[in-house]
Amino acid sequence: MSDIDPTYRRYADGDSEHYDWDSDVINQGESYLCPTYIQRTPPCQNACPSGHDIRGWLSIVRGLDKPQGDKPWQAYAFERMTLANPFPAIMGRVCPAPCQEGCNRNSLDGYVGINSIEQYIGDWAREHQLAFAKPETESGKRVAIIGGGPAGLAAALFLRRLGHRSTIYEAHSALGGQMVFGIPGYRIPRHVLEHEIQRILDVGGIDVQLNSRVGSEVKVEELEQAYDAIFWSVGTVVGKPLRVAGGEAPNCVDGMTFLKAFNEGSLKYLDGRILVIGGGDTAMDVAAVAKRIGEVAGLDAAERPDAVFDGSGRQREEQTARRADSDCWLVYRRPIAKAPCTKHELEACIAEGVEIHDSLAPLEVVLDERGRARALKVQPVDWSSGKMEANGEPFEIECALIVAATGQTGDYDGIDGIANQWNQIDAERSMQVKDRQGHFAGGDAVIPHLLTTAIGHASVAVEGIDKYLRDLEFDDRPKVEGHHFDLLQELAEKELSPDEYNHGPTWGTNSAKWSVHNFENRAEADVIKSHALYTGHFSYEPVNARQEMDVNVSNVLGSMIERFSCLNEETAVTEAKRCMSCGFCFECDNCVIYCPQDAVFRVKKGERAMGRYVETDYFKCVGCHICKEVCPTGYIEMGLGQY
Ligand SMILES: Cc1cc2nc3c(=O)[nH]c(=O)nc-3n(C[C@H](O)[C@H](O)[C@H](O)COP(=O)(O)OP(=O)(O)OC[C@H]3O[C@@H](n4cnc5c(N)ncnc54)[C@H](O)[C@@H]3O)c2cc1C
Ligand code: SF4
Ligand code: SF4
Repeated sequence: MSDIDPTYRRYADGDSEHYDWDSDVINQGESYLCPTYIQRTPPCQNACPSGHDIRGWLSIVRGLDKPQGDKPWQAYAFERMTLANPFPAIMGRVCPAPCQEGCNRNSLDGYVGINSIEQYIGDWAREHQLAFAKPETESGKRVAIIGGGPAGLAAALFLRRLGHRSTIYEAHSALGGQMVFGIPGYRIPRHVLEHEIQRILDVGGIDVQLNSRVGSEVKVEELEQAYDAIFWSVGTVVGKPLRVAGGEAPNCVDGMTFLKAFNEGSLKYLDGRILVIGGGDTAMDVAAVAKRIGEVAGLDAAERPDAVFDGSGRQREEQTARRADSDCWLVYRRPIAKAPCTKHELEACIAEGVEIHDSLAPLEVVLDERGRARALKVQPVDWSSGKMEANGEPFEIECALIVAATGQTGDYDGIDGIANQWNQIDAERSMQVKDRQGHFAGGDAVIPHLLTTAIGHASVAVEGIDKYLRDLEFDDRPKVEGHHFDLLQELAEKELSPDEYNHGPTWGTNSAKWSVHNFENRAEADVIKSHALYTGHFSYEPVNARQEMDVNVSNVLGSMIERFSCLNEETAVTEAKRCMSCGFCFECDNCVIYCPQDAVFRVKKGERAMGRYVETDYFKCVGCHICKEVCPTGYIEMGLGQY
């Protein structure tokens, strides 16, 4: 028997029978249950493939979580944001923001503009030349990264933070992957991209080998010998050709070839109607580029787009003065409402004059006497039965160029035993390549999706690589992945860390300084949905949307500037204040104000931190549940006393 008196015990020494306390739990406004404070994951974070601590950085932007010393709040938000994703200015521009679809505020008056605040912080960080911290330790380990797109670059940074060095092998002449040769420059301005890449390289310990394709210039076996682990981030860089008769015509190319030529500056204009086949984001980018570069009449053979694609010809800059609107048709097999592209990009294409022709299945490329495509033969189809069925007579659509944007695949030429039969890499949850110890993979090479997904993979893979390098077992991954807010880290930053646990016996409630008072972190297990919030607390607040430039049929030609303008400091803060802080305290004081027993009180000023704002006096609490009912964020659970 311990000589320390327990603070609370349900049974006295010698009790041998339990009494039926369950029936007493709720009794005339009182109960045995007292509040506990439970951190859960907000759905915005759960929907972000990078696992951003969105609620955390929004609480910095809105001024709840303050930086130490004279650090600007923007710098503090940037640090929190880039724990998960080192490309805030790019994500803020082109991420289709699944986080916003997940946002609980949709059940009220519309999502929080997470993406626009990310852009504001990203741009502020660039304008103020913020750098990433250098690593504090050196592990002596080296990792080969194959592919310098977003997954490879993010992995290099995440590895470096753990003290590991790396070399990025990139087949192309520049880093960035699809951000540089896929997504056009008016969506990701190249000075923004270069800045965010350079900031990663400035951390040091990351070597770069450009024009070095693994599988040809560099052998996998050499890398296995020279490095402690390998990360495959090779993307899906080869466009799929149009698989119908005549699809091999010189003026019938894939979307990747088209966009690469445009992004490298060699494709400057078209020469007649372009048919874009597909309904994904690549198709939208091809169509939008076609509208911007326009067409020039009467080109000679060496200036035609197909001569540019096969390297036999060249377009002249001076011809761009003669450009006219291009005639661009998007041909999609299904109804356009079912297209997988970002809806906003589709709407933008329509506004810019792209003609949509849906429910048309390509049958054949009709060739002229010189073997060039002169038309696409299509079959009208109907999907109402759930299957594709012919619906009318096939017909021909005349064209000068066909661009098949119907998907991409990986290029594993000269690389054995890594990809499956679909040219994808099978990875385990740790992102280790199936049956290949020491090889990890991420990004489009594993699942083609978004930039943010590639970066999220890199983060998980780096955890796996780190364990592998330190000879540790891979733990089970949490049910809810993400860079969750860490209260202990927050307390440490504010020099409020709890005392060392004394491992002495303790019962019931305790206000000793080695514990964080009645707090539990369930972020890795639970996502808080809108029905668990008290949304009546929040009033209607219209979204502070970014200004979008009106690009339309009349001004799209030659329009190479960004469509969205950035929020300013005031609008970014106002927008962040719309966040309902789902699953975490945001210091509204409701529980303090409404508690009829004055049992809930604020933590003393010098001891407060984000997430450590209120405490309960359990001797006063009668378990009335009022604090739980009035908590807008679902942070309070009447748990204490039950277990
Ligand atoms: C046209 C287009 C538009 C898109 N628009 C968006 C968008 O708006 N928003 C969004 O979030 N996502 C968008 N995406 C998707 C996004 O670009 C990808 O999900 C992302 O780039 C994948 O990153 P990654 O690092 O896995 O691969 P990638 O970006 O493809 O990078 C792979 C890199 O590996 C290199 N490489 C390949 N093989 C080798 C080898 N053997 N040796 C050395 N290097 C090699 C390649 O050259 C490339 O640089 C778009 C994609 C395309 C194609
Ligand atoms: S990366 Fe995309 S999904 Fe994640 S927070 Fe940013 S906008 Fe949202
Ligand atoms: S209200 Fe805030 S915390 Fe809740 S889902 Fe939206 S952005 Fe995330």
